[in-house]
Amino acid sequence: MVPGIAANRPDVDVIVIGGGVNGTGVARDCALRGMSVALFERNDIAFGASGNSSGMIHGGPRYLTYDPDVTHTSCLDSGHIQRIAPHLLFRIPFLMPIQRSRIGSRVALTLFDAFFDLYDKYQPLKHGKPHVRLDADDMRKLEPGLMGDLVGGVSFDEWGIDGARLCIGSAVDAIERGAEVRVHTTVTELLRREDGSVYGVRYRDRTTGETGARTARVVINATGAWAPITATLGGLEAKAARVRPGKGVHVFMDRRLTNYAVVARAIDGRQVFLQPWQNMSVIGTTDDDYYGDLDEVVATGDEVRYLVQAVERVFPSVRQARIIGTWGGVRPTLYAWGPNEDQLSREHEIIDHEKHGADGLYSMVGGKLASYRIFAEQMTDVVAKRLGNRTECRTHLLPLPGGDEQLDPMQLVERAHLGPVTAQRLEYRHGSRSLRVLDRMFKEPREAAVVCECEPITEAEVRYVVENELAQDVDDVSRRTRLGLGTCGGMRCAARCGQIVAQMTGRSPGDGHRMALSFLTGAARRRVCGIGPQQAQQEALSMAVLRAELGSGRHDDEAGS
Ligand SMILES: Cc1cc2nc3c(=O)[nH]c(=O)nc-3n(C[C@H](O)[C@H](O)[C@H](O)COP(=O)(O)OP(=O)(O)OC[C@H]3O[C@@H](n4cnc5c(N)ncnc54)[C@H](O)[C@@H]3O)c2cc1C
Repeated sequence: MVPGIAANRPDVDVIVIGGGVNGTGVARDCALRGMSVALFERNDIAFGASGNSSGMIHGGPRYLTYDPDVTHTSCLDSGHIQRIAPHLLFRIPFLMPIQRSRIGSRVALTLFDAFFDLYDKYQPLKHGKPHVRLDADDMRKLEPGLMGDLVGGVSFDEWGIDGARLCIGSAVDAIERGAEVRVHTTVTELLRREDGSVYGVRYRDRTTGETGARTARVVINATGAWAPITATLGGLEAKAARVRPGKGVHVFMDRRLTNYAVVARAIDGRQVFLQPWQNMSVIGTTDDDYYGDLDEVVATGDEVRYLVQAVERVFPSVRQARIIGTWGGVRPTLYAWGPNEDQLSREHEIIDHEKHGADGLYSMVGGKLASYRIFAEQMTDVVAKRLGNRTECRTHLLPLPGGDEQLDPMQLVERAHLGPVTAQRLEYRHGSRSLRVLDRMFKEPREAAVVCECEPITEAEVRYVVENELAQDVDDVSRRTRLGLGTCGGMRCAARCGQIVAQMTGRSPGDGHRMALSFLTGAARRRVCGIGPQQAQQEALSMAVLRAELGSGRHDDEAGS
C-alpha cells in the first residue's frame, strides 16, 4: 500500500481512466448521480477512437445481418443523444447505388429494398425517415456524378455527430457537476492492496512532469484500445481486458463533391462511403487488425489508395478533389479469433476484474459511439449498486452543455455582425453556449477577429475553449474547433493560435511557436500519405522556414521584450 494514503478513506468514489466517449460518459453519469469522480486522460479528451470515428449515430444497417441487438441499442441511444445534444447532430441521407450485373441485378435491388424494409422498423427510434427504392434515373437526378451501369439503388437516413465535441460536452458537464478532469495526465499504475483489490491510481502529468496518487472506491478502465495495457498497470495479464484493435482511417478532401453520402464497394467487397461534411468531403473507412503504437495512428498510402479506388468506381470525379488530410483511430472491438475485422461484433462488455483477483476494478470494452450513453449507464448502475447509491440515471434527459436551447445562427449574425458561415459553425459546436463566446466579443471587440479563415474560427472561440474546455495546446484547440483542418492545413492559423494559447496559459511566445510547429508537423504526417510530390515539396519548404524561425530564437526574444 502507498505510504501516507488512507485507503479506507478514499479521495473520491470513482476514478475513471480514459477521456473517450465511454470514460467521459461514465464520469458524467456518476457525477449526475452525486458520486465524486476523478477522470485521468493520457492525451486529450477524444484523442482516441472517439475523436477519430466516422461519427455516425446510427444503427448501422450492416450490423442488422449479424448483430441485431447492436442495431437496436444504437438506434435507441441515437434517439437519446439527439435529445441531449441537438446542436451537434446532422442528417446524413445515404444513397446506395446498385450496379447492373450479368446475373441478378434486379433481384439484388429487390433484396436491398426488402432488407431496408427491416431497417426501417428501427428508424422511429432515431427519428429517421424510411428508405426509398430508386431507379437509375432517380439516382442520377439526385447525384449527377454517379457513374457506371446502374440498375437503381436505395436511399436510407442516418445521423452524424462531431465525436470530439460530444466527449467535450460530457467532460464539461461532469466538471460542472463536481468532477475533477485532468488531461495530458497518464495513469502509470493501478494501486492494489495485499489482497489484490484495487484502491486507486498513480499518475503523471505529461506536460509538467508532476506525479501523484489518488484513491477511490472504484476504478474504471475506460481506455478503449489501450484497455489491455491499462490492465497490466496493475499487474494483471493484458488478456484480462482483451480487445481486438481495429484501425480505421478516413481521407478528407478540399470540397463538397456530392449532395448525399454515397456507399461504394472496395476491392475486397467491404463497404466504404463518400460523405459531404461541412465544407469538405470524407471517405471512410478501413477496418484492419492493428498492432502498432496507439498514440501514433497514422494512415498509410495504401489505405488512402484503397479508399479512393473504391469510391472512384461509382464517383470518378473524386480524383479531381485535393486530399487535404486523413484521420485515423483504433476501434476497441470485442476480442474474437477468426472473423474478418468487419464481421466482428460491435457489442460492448463490462469486465469485473474481481475474477482476476482485482476487486474494485472494472473495464469497459467494445461498443460504439452511437451506444456510448447506454454503455455508460450500465457501468454506472454497477458502480451505484456497489456503493449503495440509489439515484436513477438522467443522462438521457438532461441536455449536454449548449443543448438546452437551439439558436438560430442568424441571431448571431445580427447580434455580433458575424459572417453567416462563422455564426452557423459556432452555433453547431456550442449550441446555446455560443452566446458565451459572443459575450467575449462584446467585452473585447478585438476577439471577433478570425484566426482560422478556412473554417472560420474567431479569437473569442479559441480563448473560450482554452478557458472552459480544457484545451492546453494548438492540437487541443483544433480538436474542439476544427482550427487548421481546412485547405491551408493550419499554415495560416497555427502560429496565431499558438500565441493565444501561450499567452492564456502563462507560457512564452516561443512555447506558442513550438505548439504551432508540433501541430503542423502532426498534420503534415497525417497528410503526406494522400498528397502528390509537388504539394509535399511546398509543405516541406514551409516547415523548414518555420523550424528555422524557431531555431533563431526570435520568438523567445519577443518574450523578453
Ligand atoms: C475509424 C473508426 C470509425 C468509427 N465509426 C463509428 C461510427 O460511425 N459510429 C459509431 O457508433 N462508432 C464508431 N466507431 C467506434 C467508436 O468510435 C468507439 O467504439 C468509441 O469511440 C470507443 O470509445 P472509448 O471511450 O472506449 O475509447 P477511446 O475513444 O479510444 O478513448 C480511450 C482514451 O483512453 C486514453 N488512455 C489510454 N491509456 C491511458 C492511461 N494510461 N491513462 C489515462 N488515459 C489513457 C486514451 O488517450 C484515449 O483518449 C468508430 C471507430 C473508429 C476507430
